[in-house]
Amino acid sequence: MKSPVSDYLREVLDDLADDADGAVADYIPELMNADPDVFGIALTTVDGRTHSVGNDEVEFSIQSISKPFAYAAALTDRGFDSVADAVGVEPSGEAFNELSLEGDSRRPKNAMINAGAITTHSLLGSDTEQRVERALAFFSTLAGRRLVVSESVCRSELDTADRNLAIAHMLRNYGILEEEAHAVVEGYTKQCSVNVTARDLSVMGATLANAGVHPVSKERVLSRAVARQTLSVMASSGMYDAAGHWLTAVGIPAKSGVSGGLLGALPGQAGVGVFSPRLDSHGNSVRGVKVFERLSDDMGLHLMDVEPYGSSVVRDIRVVDRELVVELQGVIQFTGAENILDGLENDDSGTSTVVIDVGRVDRLSDVGRRMVLEGMRRLALDGRTVALVDPDGVLPDPDFGDGRYPEIRWSMGAKS
Ligand code: GLN
Repeated sequence: MKSPVSDYLREVLDDLADDADGAVADYIPELMNADPDVFGIALTTVDGRTHSVGNDEVEFSIQSISKPFAYAAALTDRGFDSVADAVGVEPSGEAFNELSLEGDSRRPKNAMINAGAITTHSLLGSDTEQRVERALAFFSTLAGRRLVVSESVCRSELDTADRNLAIAHMLRNYGILEEEAHAVVEGYTKQCSVNVTARDLSVMGATLANAGVHPVSKERVLSRAVARQTLSVMASSGMYDAAGHWLTAVGIPAKSGVSGGLLGALPGQAGVGVFSPRLDSHGNSVRGVKVFERLSDDMGLHLMDVEPYGSSVVRDIRVVDRELVVELQGVIQFTGAENILDGLENDDSGTSTVVIDVGRVDRLSDVGRRMVLEGMRRLALDGRTVALVDPDGVLPDPDFGDGRYPEIRWSMGAKS
């Protein structure tokens, strides 16, 4: 059988192929040479499978889609506090090239607008070469191949970089930038000129969606906390002055770039990359935005549109051979654990033994684990014998927190 996922992406691509709204960016002269009709879509699941259609291998400069990844690198290298001293996390509600500074601190409002991204770039090393190499190496790890800077795009943008230079000078005036303005803008422009494809973007997005673990190499390239922070800032500010509309209508943390790239990362599910150079008035790819609207609607990918899963973790509670057997399943997080604890609280079976069977549990989050163990501890305090069935070891070292452990049974009926 051929998976229908690529056929679906092909249908979306074909439906939007004739849409010629918008215009190719012209403030960077080299970008005007882009073929406006090029159109590629790629989707990579957190398991590492990529489906792609159209011009998915055509290279273009990453531009502002570099910003979330440079932010992630800065958070990794410098720590959250020192990055927060330099750049905020509030949506600016303004265009990408606005000098949006916070009242007291004079920090740029966020790392997705140029002012914040120039500042973030400055945190990647102590000189231009080091900063560019840090960005390039990190983006390459994320893409899973060695990326290169488009020298022609970089030169073209540097020739016309007055506005970014003005922003950098102003930041330095306020003491936000320590480095010399020209050097930082040169490095930032190189960072923006790294060539990628729609496929690269989808893999890079899938790493963020996969809590920092690369979906193909399975290597942890970002901490969970850095991935979460980056996705949060993308969700609130990634689409500039269209961010609120984007979050409500599409609901996928995303970042656009003026060369026509658009990257989305849906936590726990997938990364999406689109390339189509014609832009709307916010500087976002017209067809890229429409692809995301379609995917969100057709495939239920809106962040706020989730299935309730709390009650489904309790597969069964029943008395077997005068023992209460609690059979759990799936992924246990806070709400699932709350449901389990509710089942135990309302149990009136009166059995002296309670068997917790996690044989069908895929995973427990940290809080899920703590809550289930606390439930077991309380059962023990009530004078009941607590047994655990955990053939796959999803609940290792099941210490109740007071030095006591459950009786371990590897399979039902076989007491250890
Ligand atoms: N390099 C571009 C700039 O600084 C990036 C802007 C963008 O992609 N929105 O103007």
